Amino acid sequence: MSYFNVTILGCSSAAPTTRHNPSAQLVAYRRHNMLVDCGEGTQLQLRRYGISFARIDHIFISHLHGDHFLGLPGLLSTLSLHNVEGDVTVHTFAEGVAMLRPLIDAVCRERSYKLHWDVVDPHGTNVVMDDGALRVSSFPLYHRVPCVGYRFEEVNKRRHIDRESCDFYNVPHYLMNDIKDGADLVLPDGRIVPNERLTTAPTPAASYAYCSDTVKDMRVAECVKGVDILYHEATYGDEGAHKAGPRGHSTAREAAEIARAAGAGTLVLGHYSQSVLDESVLVREASEVFDGNVVAANEGMKFDLA
Ligand SMILES: [Zn+2]
Repeated sequence: MSYFNVTILGCSSAAPTTRHNPSAQLVAYRRHNMLVDCGEGTQLQLRRYGISFARIDHIFISHLHGDHFLGLPGLLSTLSLHNVEGDVTVHTFAEGVAMLRPLIDAVCRERSYKLHWDVVDPHGTNVVMDDGALRVSSFPLYHRVPCVGYRFEEVNKRRHIDRESCDFYNVPHYLMNDIKDGADLVLPDGRIVPNERLTTAPTPAASYAYCSDTVKDMRVAECVKGVDILYHEATYGDEGAHKAGPRGHSTAREAAEIARAAGAGTLVLGHYSQSVLDESVLVREASEVFDGNVVAANEGMKFDLA
């Protein structure tokens, strides 16, 4: 059973089309349901894919172009209609807070939940959420307006107990958490059993990065180094390459160059221009550059990380 996964809710650029919804994804990690971007229609997409509104606790906005946040007022007012309780934090730039807070306060006056605004700094790499097991960081992207990507990674992965060995040394139950954290065992006669004899290595930490919207910039590859899955915008194919740079976007081939430099496991392409009618062309172009797995995002697709 997966406890860390990503569901694509929208992967078009600019206006919604009949083929794709504007940008939104759901990153689920244990008890957290986190939205990354919230384009128009996101609440309908959540419904379509049977995702619980009640568990949404974080919303990370990449930048302030409408196709990435216009779904927010509708979604936040629906949460109250559903009597959602608990805390919901919207992470966006200071400019986003200044613009959205009065609007949200006006359209959802009586909220059933507690709404928090977290100001994201568009410069540098910053931790925006950390619950001890999952850390979310923002990092700069290079678009026509300030824009950030988000990296989700497991931290503090605990070692696995070697049951047989722990039984042999009679490790008391109350010490198990310390042992999982790497502590050695001190026997009643003072001898020390090193942790490596009682445990096996932790499962590797899983990680995911979201990059939309940006021109190809190798600084991005540094920020997403070694991720298992990289979602990188591929607004155009080779055919539209002349439009990519001037509009602050990338081609599929450029996304693949970032994935290759980062050593990502899987590259997920998305944020398609309306002019892209066959995404398999983008996959083919990206695969000429990047040896790993390349997938064209589509609404409803789900990727398991752990
Ligand atoms: Zn966009």
